[in-house]
Amino acid sequence: MSRKLRILVVEDEAAIRTGLVDVLVYHGYEADTAADGPAGLDKALSGKFDLILLDVMLPGVDGFAICDRIRAEDREQPIIMLTAKTSDEDIIRGLSLGADDYVSKPFSVAQLMLRIGAVLRRSRIAVEQDNHIRLGDNVEVDTRNLSGRRGGQALSFTRREVEVLRYLSINPERPVSRDELLNKVWGYARNQDIETRTVDIHIAKLRRKIETDPSRPRHLVTVRGAGYRLQAD
Ligand code: CA
Repeated sequence: MSRKLRILVVEDEAAIRTGLVDVLVYHGYEADTAADGPAGLDKALSGKFDLILLDVMLPGVDGFAICDRIRAEDREQPIIMLTAKTSDEDIIRGLSLGADDYVSKPFSVAQLMLRIGAVLRRSRIAVEQDNHIRLGDNVEVDTRNLSGRRGGQALSFTRREVEVLRYLSINPERPVSRDELLNKVWGYARNQDIETRTVDIHIAKLRRKIETDPSRPRHLVTVRGAGYRLQAD
């Protein structure tokens, strides 16, 4: 691949925005910026970026609304939210709206580059041969179209959610740990010891979609102390 990967930085604080651009360019990416919500939304919807770094608190339109709008149009667009370190609600909300991952401010450059690299790597996963995951006769997921159904209800998924399901579905005989999912689906090396609730929140989102009763999962089950397992019933 010859062209540089393009990253959009949506951040209203000039010092952080400039710092991010410097770091991205230094690491070989092409960077573009938006300093407020409306400009960020405009550029984000242009489809020209391999990844969007999206601040939460923005003038005009906030990062959550932008994330929501992007997902409504493009479920594949990689998005990393920039959240305040102390704000659990921001992290949970961003991931619930379909962000691929988050980085808490203030962040280290190493941590940021790690997450960017991982999200970009995983976004280029090829689509497999059999495009369907079936769980009993109630739930079906089309991994190519990111769609599915539970009973008569239509479902839609993000790319990342489908990758979680697919990874679990090709390992039906054993529980898969959170670390393994971070490694295989998000692309983090195992020894990187990333502290992230990304996996848990994605599991919770998936349960709300594929489970009749998300509080008593029958398909995406927790194996205590071991991880998660996907089963037909
Ligand atoms: Ca801000």
